[in-house]
Amino acid sequence: MILRTAHWTVIPSVAKESNSMRIIDGKAISQAVKDEVRAEVAAIEAEGKRKPCLCVIIVGENPASQVYVRNKVKAAAYTGMESMLIELPATVSEEELLGKIAELNADPAVDGILVQLPLPKHIDEEKVIDAISAAKDVDGFHPSNVAGLWLGKDCVVPCTPAGVMRLLDSTGVDLSGKTAVVVGRSNIVGKPVAKLRLDRNATVVIAHSRTADLASVCRQADILVAAVGRPGLITGDMVKPGAIIIDVGINRTPEGKLCGDVDFASCSEVAGWITPVPGGVGPMTIAMLMKNTLRCYRSK
Ligand code: NAD
Repeated sequence: MILRTAHWTVIPSVAKESNSMRIIDGKAISQAVKDEVRAEVAAIEAEGKRKPCLCVIIVGENPASQVYVRNKVKAAAYTGMESMLIELPATVSEEELLGKIAELNADPAVDGILVQLPLPKHIDEEKVIDAISAAKDVDGFHPSNVAGLWLGKDCVVPCTPAGVMRLLDSTGVDLSGKTAVVVGRSNIVGKPVAKLRLDRNATVVIAHSRTADLASVCRQADILVAAVGRPGLITGDMVKPGAIIIDVGINRTPEGKLCGDVDFASCSEVAGWITPVPGGVGPMTIAMLMKNTLRCYRSK
């Protein structure tokens, strides 16, 4: 029997008698987030005010980036906010791109600026991120926002980590005193995920490519987040019974199928909660981008 609720699906585990494994439904939760934004945008419009505007810049023709950018613009349209898509050729110079960003920084009608990464090799990504006004940095990658996060200030939080927290919140589990492991130490996922869970009083561990005995570190986790980019790295024998598992990884199998860093089949036998790929963290990232755009609009 499968019990479906608004945000998760309960599958009684065959491995345990007293516990049920629940799939955290990122699609449903991201829809709820987008609907919250949509209602707020409608209220802004009803007051006769200017609507929030997100500007997305894409450089070159990376097919994966094109899909991400299209989905971001589509989500913005769904929420009712304005959006602008600026497509620049792969040959655009760093100077021209920085010039475009300066123009958008100065434009009062633009609330959020996102430059889709990765950029062509001749452009310094760090320079580009630094050039975006922190007040319009909807990705939360600008050094001021990164510092703000680590200093506990009110700032823009990167979309994927914010989405991970929203998924965790949907379980209703209090993180205080829990052991929270994140595998991966990138600036855009691993480190901010660790800080956000530290803020909830979890005991935080950041594991990475040099971690000795990753399996035993993961087995300590009440909450396990995988953000590595290696299909099936986390297997059921690495999971504490009843743990919450959030799979951030986006990988492709040799057959071209999307998969995460977590071996879903074996881990779902042990976990208490788990996100699928696709349909877990992926849609949350875009939904939180909409939240961040609204936040930048409001903090003007
Ligand atoms: P990254 O390549 O910057 O970092 C990967 C991290 O994994 C590194 O810190 C490294 O130390 C660690 N690592 C590598 N091999 C390891 C191993 N064998 N054992 C333990 N740790 C290991 O990656 P990222 O940008 O943080 O992305 C991670 C994954 O998340 C990728 O699959 C990416 O596509 C995905 N991602 C998904 C979303 C989303 O919206 N769902 C957003 C961002 C990233």
